[in-house]
Amino acid sequence: MNEYDTELVRSILDKAGYAFIGNELEADIVMLNTCAIREHAHRKVYGRVHEIHHKRQGKPVKIGILGCMATNLRTDLLENKSLKIDFIAGPDSYKRLPQLIAESYGEGEKPFDLTLSEFETYSDIFPSQNSGGNSHSRNVNAWIAVMRGCNNFCTFCVVPYTRGRERSRSVENVVDEVRRLADNGFKQVTLLGQNVNSYRHEKSDFAALLEAVSRVDGIERIRFTSPHPKDFPNPLLEVVANNPKVCKHIHLPLQSGNDAVLDRMNRTYTQAEFLALVDKARKLSPKIVLSTDIIVGFSGETDTEFEDTVKVMQDVEFDSAFIFKYSEREGTIAQRKFPDDVPDAIKTERIVRLNELQREITLKKNRAHINEIHALLIENDGKDSTLGRTDGNKLVLIPKNGHKSGEFVPVRITDAGPHNLKGTPLSNN
Ligand code: SAH
Ligand code: SF4
Repeated sequence: MNEYDTELVRSILDKAGYAFIGNELEADIVMLNTCAIREHAHRKVYGRVHEIHHKRQGKPVKIGILGCMATNLRTDLLENKSLKIDFIAGPDSYKRLPQLIAESYGEGEKPFDLTLSEFETYSDIFPSQNSGGNSHSRNVNAWIAVMRGCNNFCTFCVVPYTRGRERSRSVENVVDEVRRLADNGFKQVTLLGQNVNSYRHEKSDFAALLEAVSRVDGIERIRFTSPHPKDFPNPLLEVVANNPKVCKHIHLPLQSGNDAVLDRMNRTYTQAEFLALVDKARKLSPKIVLSTDIIVGFSGETDTEFEDTVKVMQDVEFDSAFIFKYSEREGTIAQRKFPDDVPDAIKTERIVRLNELQREITLKKNRAHINEIHALLIENDGKDSTLGRTDGNKLVLIPKNGHKSGEFVPVRITDAGPHNLKGTPLSNN
């Protein structure tokens, strides 16, 4: 989402007459787009601000702080005199950047806008990356934020405070953007939202949006992230299963496998409900690839509660998992109600254990693809081999043989490790 937002900012500033220079030593203005979700991002950002000033050796520069951290650390950013920054903009204020930048050249107070909007979706801005791709995956995948904000208030999470309430763009507006992307040569779109499957605009829900996007000629693959397990009604699972353009991959964040912990997290589902959802998804699409997010060491998590997470991970066998240590966030419900009382050494033990378990499962799942045939969408023509992804989002390396980004290549999978698969194009067999 932040990469996407950065491209929105680029587009806004482009229109206002600013030229983008990807070099912090040369530019007159440097902006840091920040995330507040897990790490102590503020330390990193403060370090970066000092580093930029140091490298510039006194050459004047305006530094702006954008994104969630701007909202989360407003007082500190505004009052900390040792931090040499010039303007601040939260995630809903990017259209005001030209004005904030102009004001930062004046005499007054540090300009800032941290207002959270109930309406801003930037639906009238076409992100600059989407007009031609970036060097990494040119004209292959384009991101589109279809909704912004979150109303769920999971107790550990800062997003509802830093990004505000849920709001969705209209189906027509999203489809128009997808058409432009197809015209610009993109083959895949990834629909983005903090809680993407709670998308709703008038009578259209997320399943209807997927169907509408899939009718755009030229777009061959549709992905989405991040969904919440509570918003997977049958029609949505059926669209994923039956629409050939919608990729057979669901990211399904579990967070914890224990009911008491899930309740303290306010995730609104139980272990049994989560397992039933996995069963249903697999019944409808037997080959579906599932990935997840897990938090270890949330407030009060006992050994027994943690073992439930281990068990669910063993039972479900996700294809991959992002596993995080709980990190208390300023302003969240958990910070007010539940102490961050699991010692760091225990969090480390738990994360190491789950990472080891997941590594074995991922390896087993990846090896099960050996000898299968998959259509790869080529993303990158690397130095020694070419990279592409399967419909299920698995990375496959094939021998370098002139395939171009954006091409579809049928391959037979020949080998698999925990991080990627290897294959040979069918025509080479
Ligand atoms: N909306 C998505 C998650 C977005 S944040 C969802 O509901 O699943 C991405 C992931 O960061 C979360 O799934 C969670 O696993 C992790 N995360 C969020 N807040 C965290 C915190 N305070 N400490 C540790 N991990 C956190
Ligand atoms: Fe945060 Fe996701 Fe929960 Fe929203 S649904 S509060 S973004 S973890």
